[in-house]
Amino acid sequence: MKIRDVVIGANASMYYKLNFKNIKGVYYPKTEQDVLAAIAHAKQNGFTVTPKGGGSGLSGACTGGNDQRVMISTLQMKEILTVSKDQGYIDVQPGITPDKINEFIAPMGLKFFVAPSSRDVATVAGILSTDGGGNDTWINGTMRDNTIRVKMVLYDGRLLTVDSKGVRRNDLELEEQLNKIGMTIHDVASSHGTLGFITELRLLIRPTVKEALMGGLAEFPECNVLGQALHEMIRKNIKINYGEVITEAHVDVREDLRPPLHVVEFPVELESEMREIIDFRRLDSKELARMKDVRVKLPKRNPKVGIQVALFEGYGFYDESLIKLQDSIDSVNTLLIEHGMTPFAKYGHGPSKWYTGDNSATYGLILHSREIKPEGKRGQEMFDTVLAIVEKCNELKVTPKPEHKWPFSDEVKRKKLEEIRTVIGRSFNPFLLSPECNDILGSMV
Ligand SMILES: Cc1cc2nc3c(=O)[nH]c(=O)nc-3n(C[C@H](O)[C@H](O)[C@H](O)COP(=O)(O)OP(=O)(O)OC[C@H]3O[C@@H](n4cnc5c(N)ncnc54)[C@H](O)[C@@H]3O)c2cc1C
Repeated sequence: MKIRDVVIGANASMYYKLNFKNIKGVYYPKTEQDVLAAIAHAKQNGFTVTPKGGGSGLSGACTGGNDQRVMISTLQMKEILTVSKDQGYIDVQPGITPDKINEFIAPMGLKFFVAPSSRDVATVAGILSTDGGGNDTWINGTMRDNTIRVKMVLYDGRLLTVDSKGVRRNDLELEEQLNKIGMTIHDVASSHGTLGFITELRLLIRPTVKEALMGGLAEFPECNVLGQALHEMIRKNIKINYGEVITEAHVDVREDLRPPLHVVEFPVELESEMREIIDFRRLDSKELARMKDVRVKLPKRNPKVGIQVALFEGYGFYDESLIKLQDSIDSVNTLLIEHGMTPFAKYGHGPSKWYTGDNSATYGLILHSREIKPEGKRGQEMFDTVLAIVEKCNELKVTPKPEHKWPFSDEVKRKKLEEIRTVIGRSFNPFLLSPECNDILGSMV
């Protein structure tokens, strides 16, 4: 095994048992021409193609699922191409991270408003392909809301430009076919590398507005009260700039915090409106920064005994499952314990926004979860637990956030992608849409 195989195989998910012999080529293109050459090599030999960004995705999609495949990394496509302050956009290559974009445009008084916790490693094409977001998604939207258009290379070497209105390209027949299906940027969002290789993105940037903000910490006796408060904030459409929830955290990592709690930051003039919903202690900027830091470090710290795993990253609680948050979490934890796992931490963005497969927006709490894995637990057993969680989520009316766990994403999205792939081909990441997807992923844990 070569060292670069290990690097290209590395990813943050639990799907890491790769058969490196099936990786038939690893490319680090710098330009669209290089991407075309890499894809042409795959096509000549009948290999599938897997695009890879920062490898921080948790669905296993960037592994390529052990197909005989060519991996194309965006590691060397990190250029900023154009900045238009007047028109509010930036053109970038796919491998740049939100942090790097903001480092560049901050001195111009501009900001790109998509901030997943992984924004230092996740690439913009990867974030669009998973439709990621951060703790300000509630007011600033997910990645699709902040992407004006993308350029893509297809398996047969044809090029596409896709925006919110549809598809443009020189080949009129293809353009017509795709527009008839109604392909837009919404379809590229959360497509997990199943359509083509994104070579360029035009992203929305906006001036940073200096607002007087207030930080606060609210503690709750139990999660039902917290869930009801979030539900009320959503109902009243209160503009919260930062909202992070910790519902539980192991004693080894929680420092002096006492979950369930909600850390918030919002415009000063909303104080009385917020006080009607939650009883919070005001935080000065230093305390707020410390809380944000503890939250960001939670998933990166291990307990003193054992190791933590992320079985199921994105629980989307909304409406009834949010109002009864404690009951919903208790049900999930009972299931985890039955499967030998120890709940370790649950934290996430709230209020938040995410899209379902029919492109409608849902508002609620996106909760991430970490568990301590018992010694000797086999990969397949862990994957069986994931499948049981999916069933439980269906029962509780919790949206398993498709962005993170693609195989469980809804049928509407799957059907639309299949429809598009009948026109453009099925050679990008085909394992994700195959009936064997669960078996393949199970064998990779
Ligand atoms: C510690 C941690 C914290 C996280 N926090 C958040 C969070 O707060 N919010 C959130 O939404 N997510 C979060 N995530 C999840 C993760 O960061 C996202 O899924 C991320 O958007 C993936 O980006 P990436 O560049 O790492 O892509 P990868 O993981 O490399 O790939 C993800 C998908 O994108 C496809 N892809 C990549 N590049 C291209 C391209 N050029 N063309 C076509 N397809 C492409 C791949 O094939 C794959 O299907 C977190 C992950 C970790 C490990």
